[in-house]
Amino acid sequence: MTSIPDITIPDSMRPVDGRFGSGPSKVRSDAVAALADEADSFLGTSHRQDRVKFVVAALRNGLLEFFNAPDGYQILMGNGGATLFWDAASFGLIENRAQHLVCGEFSSKFAKCTTLAPHLGDPEIIESDPGTAPSLVANPDVDVYCYPHNETSTGVALPVLRADGADGLTLVDATSGGGGLRFDPANADVYYFAPQKCFSSDGGLWLALCSPAAMERIDAIAATDRWVPEILNLKTAMDNSLKDQTYNTPALATIYLALKYTEWCNENGGLEFAASRSDQSADTLYGWAERTDWASPFVSDPELRSHVVATIDIDDAFDALTISKILRQNGIVDTESYRKLGRNQLRISMMPGIEPSDIEALTNCLDYVVPKMG
Ligand SMILES: *Cc1c(COP(=O)(O)O)cnc(C)c1O
Repeated sequence: MTSIPDITIPDSMRPVDGRFGSGPSKVRSDAVAALADEADSFLGTSHRQDRVKFVVAALRNGLLEFFNAPDGYQILMGNGGATLFWDAASFGLIENRAQHLVCGEFSSKFAKCTTLAPHLGDPEIIESDPGTAPSLVANPDVDVYCYPHNETSTGVALPVLRADGADGLTLVDATSGGGGLRFDPANADVYYFAPQKCFSSDGGLWLALCSPAAMERIDAIAATDRWVPEILNLKTAMDNSLKDQTYNTPALATIYLALKYTEWCNENGGLEFAASRSDQSADTLYGWAERTDWASPFVSDPELRSHVVATIDIDDAFDALTISKILRQNGIVDTESYRKLGRNQLRISMMPGIEPSDIEALTNCLDYVVPKMG
């Protein structure tokens, strides 16, 4: 191991908040303070009683407003995060065969899940290289189309669209894009996410904006004789969600913090407010990378460059992991690239909870640190 150069960034140059992780991501201090204020009457109380059910109802209604959901859409929720939702979907939403767009680690994990499910046919997998995005192709054998809104491992954002001329359901993994990227909810049947990324909350929960067609599918599969482990049963999750409850005990702080983010956005102009903050950060960071000799955006097509997670390639003259370690010594954390991508790269969250001025400060810190590495 080479030692990490001892470079101290001047205090005046540092971001106010040093958290730039792409998941878990910065939790807004205002939301934590609000939770602390109400903790005595909320944390450690029954999730079957009104105090908690009101917060769940406020979150479910607030999300419908935030997403500008079409009539009949509902928010369903349960425990286990986005990863659990993949298994739940393979039991409760896919009749026989899924199509997956795969362009990185997270999209490939869901494809693996339906490939291994013994009760499903082999999925159709349409794959593209990291840093690019594939497109859906209508297939009459496919009953569910799956892709991420934002592939967190590569910093590629995909447009939320339906396969042209297809009649299957469209499932969008919005774990890192949801709450920060614009989309038309009419183009998705299930827009699901865990709230520890843009929603500035903690992990362990999944939330899903579901269309009437998705809920009909859940009912229809539940009426068959397919065996479903109860914790993965979407019919059970749906029945509980519609009563502002979860099947088993949820993390109350996670629900509360997700509500605070949703309220913060809704009070300030909704998804447009949130997405505009990320747009501003993305302009700053990608603009800086394009101007800087030793940095460049990894995603070459500007249209595909995510406005919530930036991947920035670093010239081989400077070791990106060492840069991240120097930043970490200075209180600027979680800028490391996605390990399995194996590039000399920084990965930086620009989610709406992060101040665009802190993204600007981060670029100043990089300009200060990297030339000193020699
Ligand atoms: C983080 C992430 C996941 C995994 O979320 P968990 O809550 O840890 O299961 C899934 N999909 C995407 C796109 C992600 O960014």
